[in-house]
Amino acid sequence: MIYDVIVIGKGPAGISCAIYTTRANLKTLVIGKSDSMLLKADKIENYYGFENPIGGKELLDTGLKQALRLGAQIVDDEVVSIEKTEKFRVISVNGEYEATTVLLATGAPVVRVPVKNIDKFEGSGVSYCTTCDGFFYRNKKVGVLGYTDFAIHEANELAAFTQDITIYTNNMPLNISENLNESLSKFKVNTAKIAEIQGQEKIEEIVFADGSKELVQGLFVAYGSASSTSFALKMGIATEGKSITVNDKMETNIPGLFAAGDCTGVFKQISVAVGQGAIASRQMIDYVRKTGKDG
Ligand SMILES: Cc1cc2nc3c(=O)[nH]c(=O)nc-3n(C[C@H](O)[C@H](O)[C@H](O)COP(=O)(O)OP(=O)(O)OC[C@H]3O[C@@H](n4cnc5c(N)ncnc54)[C@H](O)[C@@H]3O)c2cc1C
Repeated sequence: MIYDVIVIGKGPAGISCAIYTTRANLKTLVIGKSDSMLLKADKIENYYGFENPIGGKELLDTGLKQALRLGAQIVDDEVVSIEKTEKFRVISVNGEYEATTVLLATGAPVVRVPVKNIDKFEGSGVSYCTTCDGFFYRNKKVGVLGYTDFAIHEANELAAFTQDITIYTNNMPLNISENLNESLSKFKVNTAKIAEIQGQEKIEEIVFADGSKELVQGLFVAYGSASSTSFALKMGIATEGKSITVNDKMETNIPGLFAAGDCTGVFKQISVAVGQGAIASRQMIDYVRKTGKDG
C-alpha cells in the first residue's frame, strides 16, 4: 500500500499533522517511538485550553487517542532510513513503507556521544553517514559506534563495502530487536568501554578504558536512535546546525518532505509544534492532491 502521508514521530507536531491529514481523507501512517519530550514534562500550564495544569503524558496520550479515533494508523517503531525515488521509502526496524509525502516530526535530536576525541576526527575517519561515506571504506576495517537497531542497520549498509565490521557499544548493553539477531551475527561486537579515539591526521585506533587498543580505519557513529539530522545527512536535507531548515510552509529543500516541531529548532514549545504540524498538513494535503492520490 502507498500511503499519502507518513509522519515520523508521534509527539505533538506529528500527531497534530496526522489529525488534519486524516480528516482530509488522506491515508496517513504515523511511525513513532514512545519517547516524546512531553513525557518529561511533569506539569504544563502554558498550553491553550486547560484551566489547570495538565501532565505531559496525559496530554500526549489524549492526542494519540484523538488521532486514532479520527482514523490515523499509528505504529510503535523506529525509522532508520528514508529514501526518495519517485515516492518516499521509509525503512523502519520492523518494516518498509511507501508514501507520497513525509513529515519529519522527530523532535530535537539528542546526540550525545560520550567518547573523547570523536569530534576531532569528524571527516577524518569518523562519519555519521554510511550512505555518504561507506564507499570510501571499501575492504577496510571499520567500526560502528552504537548499541541499538540503528547501529545494526548502519552496519548492514556498510556490509556492501567491507566485511570487516565491528560494532562498538562503549559499555552500553546491546539493545536489538529480535528480528535483527540474524543480522547481528554477521558482525563482531566489542562491548568494552572506550577511553578515547587516537590517530595523527586520521583515526587510527580505539583505546579502551582497560588500556587495550583496536586498529580501525573508519568509525561510523550510530549511537542511540536515528534522528532528523541522521536523515538529513543521508538525504541531503538542508540544515542549520542540528535543525532542519524549513520555509514558512514547513517545506524542506526536498519536494514532498516537510518538517515540524522541535526538529526545526524554532521556539521549542507544544503550541509551536502543534501549529507547525497543522501548517505542514495543509501543504501536504495540497501536495498529494496536486501529484495525484496514489499516483
Ligand atoms: C522537561 C520538559 C518540560 C517541558 N515543558 C513544556 C511546557 O511546559 N510547555 C511547552 O509548551 N513545552 C514544554 N516542553 C517542550 C515540549 O515537550 C516540546 O516542545 C514538544 O514535545 C515538541 O514536540 P515534537 O512533536 O516536535 O517532538 P517530541 O514531542 O519530542 O516528539 C518526537 C517524536 O519523534 C519520535 N522519534 C524520534 N526519532 C524517531 C525515529 N528515528 N523513528 C521514529 N520515531 C522517532 C519520538 O519517539 C517522539 O514520538 C518541555 C520539554 C521538556 C523536556
